[in-house]
Amino acid sequence: MIIVPEREIAGLITREDSFDAVEKVFASMANDAAYNFPVIRESIGHADALYGFKSGFDRAGLNLGLKSGGYWPGNADKGLTNHQSTVFLFDADTGQCRAVVGGNVLTALRTAAASAVSIKHLAPKNSKVLGMIGAGHQSAFQVRAAVEQREFEKIIGWNLHPEYLVNLEAVAREVGLPFEVVELDRLGDESDVIITITSSFDPILMDSQVTGGTHIACMGTDTIGKQEVDAALVARATVFTDEIAQSISLGECQHAVANGRMLETEITQIGSVINGKHVGRSTDEEVTLFDGTGVGLQDLAVAAAVVDLAVAKGVALDVDF
Ligand code: NAD
Repeated sequence: MIIVPEREIAGLITREDSFDAVEKVFASMANDAAYNFPVIRESIGHADALYGFKSGFDRAGLNLGLKSGGYWPGNADKGLTNHQSTVFLFDADTGQCRAVVGGNVLTALRTAAASAVSIKHLAPKNSKVLGMIGAGHQSAFQVRAAVEQREFEKIIGWNLHPEYLVNLEAVAREVGLPFEVVELDRLGDESDVIITITSSFDPILMDSQVTGGTHIACMGTDTIGKQEVDAALVARATVFTDEIAQSISLGECQHAVANGRMLETEITQIGSVINGKHVGRSTDEEVTLFDGTGVGLQDLAVAAAVVDLAVAKGVALDVDF
């Protein structure tokens, strides 16, 4: 069995590797060659933590396994990231455990890759302004991946806790773009692409605030009850997701579907756009919305890529099990 420790991951897999792995597995999902098993996510009644499992099987890539972990909001005070997770890969022919891979950096990379895939396939072609809602750990990964998809000229940002906005300012400087803190009215009006990546349980971005052709990647809502965007905005948009079952149960669409503003049948898997079966954005004026709920198959895809890279570079630990 191979172990790839968390400390090795950042030096092994690039954003491009992550993007390719995620785009490929989204396409496989839309071809029914890969499927996710139902998610388990529980509030464990200790340390305010949410803990669970995301798992699946990709017949095309023969990736079988799970990611186990969750969200511990008090970790930042202990010098740890709030998300903690580990990926387990199993041999699809024998069921033996093939690899254990640190999942923290991988989660951020695969989540950023998912919104980047949505920007590639859905954002207006001449998008210039990237609007960020959320300034926590994931936000820097989101910005780095997003700016590779369009010729952005500026980043604007809003966060409930303004003291975190220095994180966005720093990553904007790193990618060589000007940054401005704005109110939500301006963010919705001026952005061509908006990424939401918060832990919110109430709508932040309202329908009336978004004007003109815009792509919105909703990346923070991954649990029952969470919400970042007004249900009326979800209902107005042309909606895409990684997986429909997750989108309507624990993703951003859960509220619009539950209150009858939209139907499940109005949601398209992004893999269908990647595969050319759905046109994606049809006009420049349209609002497209990607509900990135985070699927287990994304984790397996990037973990499998990491195992190959670790073996090739001789940094994988091989243990008898
Ligand atoms: P973090 O704790 O580092 O940052 C949380 C962010 O949310 C900060 O900007 C904070 O100011 C903001 N926030 C906290 N409480 C809020 C509230 N009540 N209302 C509005 N904003 C609030 O977390 P992170 O690692 O950056 O993750 C952000 C979110 O993304 C989490 O909710 C996490 O579950 C989710 N996430 C989703 C995926 C996916 O695949 N969809 C993957 C990883 C993380």
